[in-house]
Amino acid sequence: MRRLSLTGTFAVVSLTTMVLLAGALIYLFSSTLETQARDDGERVAETFVTMGVERVITPMMRQFWVDPEAVVYSERQLLLIGSANRVAELDSLRLYGISGEALWSSIGPPTALTADELALHNKALRDLALVSTIVQIEGRPVLSVFVPVTYGDAFSQPYGVANVQLPYAATESLLRDAVVLMSSLIMVALLLAWLLLYRTVHRASTVLRAQARENEHLALHDPLTGLPNRRLLSDRLERAIAIANRRNEPVALLILDVDRFKEINDTLGHNRGDTLLVEIAARLCKVVRDADTVARLGGDEFAILAPTIASLLDADRLARRIHAVFDEPFMIDELALHVDCSVGLAVLPHHAADVTELFQRADIAMYGAKTAHVGVLVYDADSDDSSTDWLLLGDLRVALGTDQLSVHYQPKIDLVSGDVVGLEALLRWNHPQRGNIPPNLFIPVAERSGLIRTLTRYVLEMVLTQVAEWDRVEAQFAYLPVAVNLSARNLVESDFAEFVEDLLASHMVEPHRLELELTESALIEDPTRTHQMLHRLSELGVTLAVDDFGTGYTSMATLESMPLTTLKIDRSFVVRMSDDPAGVTLVRAMVELAHEFGLAVVAEGVEDEDVTDQLRALGCDVGQGFLWSRPVSGDDLPEVLVQLSFRRPEKEASLR
Ligand code: C2E
Ligand code: CA
Ligand code: CA
Repeated sequence: MRRLSLTGTFAVVSLTTMVLLAGALIYLFSSTLETQARDDGERVAETFVTMGVERVITPMMRQFWVDPEAVVYSERQLLLIGSANRVAELDSLRLYGISGEALWSSIGPPTALTADELALHNKALRDLALVSTIVQIEGRPVLSVFVPVTYGDAFSQPYGVANVQLPYAATESLLRDAVVLMSSLIMVALLLAWLLLYRTVHRASTVLRAQARENEHLALHDPLTGLPNRRLLSDRLERAIAIANRRNEPVALLILDVDRFKEINDTLGHNRGDTLLVEIAARLCKVVRDADTVARLGGDEFAILAPTIASLLDADRLARRIHAVFDEPFMIDELALHVDCSVGLAVLPHHAADVTELFQRADIAMYGAKTAHVGVLVYDADSDDSSTDWLLLGDLRVALGTDQLSVHYQPKIDLVSGDVVGLEALLRWNHPQRGNIPPNLFIPVAERSGLIRTLTRYVLEMVLTQVAEWDRVEAQFAYLPVAVNLSARNLVESDFAEFVEDLLASHMVEPHRLELELTESALIEDPTRTHQMLHRLSELGVTLAVDDFGTGYTSMATLESMPLTTLKIDRSFVVRMSDDPAGVTLVRAMVELAHEFGLAVVAEGVEDEDVTDQLRALGCDVGQGFLWSRPVSGDDLPEVLVQLSFRRPEKEASLR
């Protein structure tokens, strides 16, 4: 069954109530009128009995009530009663004794009471009160009132009952007319009231409904451009994907971001910025098909959902068409504004499996397009890494030169003497939103993008500045060499050695204070050029270490030919030593090999004393790890070094 509308429900409920109310009112009114009319009749009857009957009964006549045979009405008395009868326009008056015996009647010979009348007669006597009823006599309604007759005062014994019959036909027809009139009035009044009420409610409901529709529109649309907002877009996307999945068809989502919108907004003012956005929205709507949705995601970001796209190629074409919307300058207040945008495209199911993923992927692609200044970029599913790279990379670029990036230092300990013999510089990134990002996460990204070249130089700069500062304030550990990690990319930069040389010179730091750590993989990436670079660095007086040894495939020949001074055994082998005899064997072999080539051996990731003892027994020279210290900031380093000096085996601090 169809549900009634709000106004419909109201109409039914209120109308029912009104009808019931009208019924009740009419009933109340008519019964009040009737009671009133009867009361009036009764009063007449009573008055008549008091005035017309009791008054004319002389004390002598009392006997008559006791013994009707004994006394007879005098002519005068009867005349009086008769005239009163006329005055009151009675139908009839009948007198009855205590037991109901008929005594006298104004209309002919006394008539006996019927059974019903006798009951009323007895009731009047018993209660000493009026009792009335309406009876039909010869087809006419008559009010028949039984009045107990006492002599004068109400407390004396009754002598009998007078039955007064009053004509009721006129009253009844008056009553009927009054009720009909009143009912009509009530009904008309209520109907009017109801109509008024209904109209008000109907109007209110119409206004409310319009309001609700408007609210819904507002909740789902962008107020500036009138385009669907992110919520509505998500809904449509959800629906489109459900349908596409059934038909096995692709769904494309494009995210468009206006380039340098903030600048436009700042220089031209918000009003013009808004005008531009409205203009962009209008142009976008023109180039898409009816089935497509153009939405504003917020700020200067738009999205286009193409729910019925034939192929990836078509989606790409659409993306380019959308990008081309910005080819023509925008006329804002007679100002030709050349605006560019970045468009990211992701297609389901090729790049994503659900709404969230699709949004994410299109966003990544857009960000990529923006960073690479390529206008349009299709999400690259094959190198998902590189797509998150875009995000990290943008932030890392921003971080360069700010205090988000800092260097921490971790001491290296001589396993025999317990002396601190060096420091390793490790980069730290405190991201404003994401907090500390571990180097293992952002260094590979920087390496893939080439940003590592700048990053390494930046770290070198920070480290040498710090070393020079320690020298200047004559810190007690100002003799320690500091190791900096390089990337394979640095080794193929033709001017890297010159850069290091200049940097050392400008900070007036002696070359032997700088050690450079290279991973095995870096050594073998471009052997010839690497070889040359390492020799030039080594000629500067900088020392070179091979890092993470054991994880790559450095050949004996490489180890032999490179001007290395140190070999750092990768932490994974050191960790294995505590519970794996094979681990011990491997470390022993590495130590022996390194010594064979004249290299000092550093064990990385030493976390407990047992391993330290084993390493010492194997002849390993230096240890580095949490056992001694975590990497700490330059500010915290002095205190850590002082503590370490107290832990030396011979217990005598002999820092130069
Ligand atoms: P890495 O060069 O092998 O550096 C040693 C890493 O091991 C550091 O991690 C250090 O905190 C950690 N470590 C030291 N002792 C222990 C220990 O006892 N237990 C454990 N579990 N870990 C220990 P961190 O600082 O997170 O750096 C990770 C990697 O990121 C470095 O490995 C290095 O490859 C790279 N990296 C860090 N800073 C730079 C930099 O400035 N430039 C370049 N190119 N790479 C860097
Ligand atoms: Ca290292
Ligand atoms: Ca390492």
